[in-house]
Amino acid sequence: MLSISPTISRFSDLSNHHEVNRGRYSRHSPSLLGPPPPLHIRNTKVLRLRHNFRISAIDAAQPFDYESKISDHIAKSKTLKIAIVGFGNFGQFLAKTLVRQGHTVLAHSRTDYSAVAAELGVSFYSNPDDLCEEHPEVILLCTSILSTEKVLLSLPLQRLKRSTLFVDVLSVKEFAKDVFIKILPPDFDILCTHPMFGPESGKHSWKNLPFVYDKVRIGRDESRVSRCEKFLDSFAREGCIMKEMTCAEHDQHAAESQFITHTVGRILEKLDLDSTPINTKGYERLLDLVENTSSDSFELYYGLFMYNKNAMEQLERLDLAFESLKKELFGHLHEVLRKQLFGTTEKSLGLLQVPRALAKLPPNGNGSSRPPQSDSAN
Ligand code: NAP
Repeated sequence: MLSISPTISRFSDLSNHHEVNRGRYSRHSPSLLGPPPPLHIRNTKVLRLRHNFRISAIDAAQPFDYESKISDHIAKSKTLKIAIVGFGNFGQFLAKTLVRQGHTVLAHSRTDYSAVAAELGVSFYSNPDDLCEEHPEVILLCTSILSTEKVLLSLPLQRLKRSTLFVDVLSVKEFAKDVFIKILPPDFDILCTHPMFGPESGKHSWKNLPFVYDKVRIGRDESRVSRCEKFLDSFAREGCIMKEMTCAEHDQHAAESQFITHTVGRILEKLDLDSTPINTKGYERLLDLVENTSSDSFELYYGLFMYNKNAMEQLERLDLAFESLKKELFGHLHEVLRKQLFGTTEKSLGLLQVPRALAKLPPNGNGSSRPPQSDSAN
């Protein structure tokens, strides 16, 4: 191999390695004289030229190649080179912590976020080719659910290292997993994740906040396993509750919890609620819920609905529950009026069966379109 110093080359640190070895065995440093250097180093000739240029030639084959050197580096170093694709609200939120932890963070987005990125200590690349040429170890996809496929298809995957780890943070998991498997070459590792918090709920700390992950495809190679663990550790060391589950399990739970939360928050937002001088604790919590959910984009909420097959069932259950509650209220009112007018109730005449308490809807997944059957009064 020929290398000219000073030089800017992806192999430059490889040449430095040999420079160091040459120094150790120099006849000018007798104290360092030890066993004879390996053949490929003895065969190294260094030509010193004017103007400080130096050409070194190594006759023998390199004992290791670039790829194996990088995988060694991954195994040893504690930090990762992470490229965030989609540097909006959530991408920037994650970047702050990753930078603080010492990771090298790069970013690319449709919008030019160079100024924000510089403030956060992130290198911003408007061009995806330039980003991929940096050979990040991890691509962290933080785009909207709806644009995921388009963005993934626009990345020049051939410029990445063959074993790059792809991670997503989409709030719907089966969809993300399917898109990754469909588009990414089989050599790439896949980790599907969902931090169950955002810029509002995780503003002060990530402690005790759930982090869901599914190791969809991680190569058995030690360096790949350790890279994945290192990434997960970025959340574990912040105190997140790490929950490993399949993407399908996540979507079932998320529709029952997160989608309902966002929907209720958005319904309340439409009421334009104001703070009052006599807010109860419960009302304060509702105002917080409105603030939390309204700070997320509508596109995110729409994605939760469109790309989680369990969301429609939850929307119907919510509708049924509201109708059932209204029926219960009006049923009571009807009975009171009848008593005042006729001195008797429909119930005593056996004409009306008034629900005693709001019947619980059947548990999730048991078919929600059946109306409540209970007939008791409170
Ligand atoms: P979002 O509205 O879901 O996504 C915004 C991001 O998507 C921006 O980076 C935006 O890029 C990019 N984007 C949107 N449309 C695009 C298009 N047509 N082409 C290219 N890029 C496009 O809001 P978010 O809150 O930042 O969420 C990002 C991801 O994180 C989502 O998948 C969401 O499910 C997940 N997540 C969010 C939270 C949260 O609390 N916000 C929590 C957990 C997970 P530009 O800004 O460059 O336009």
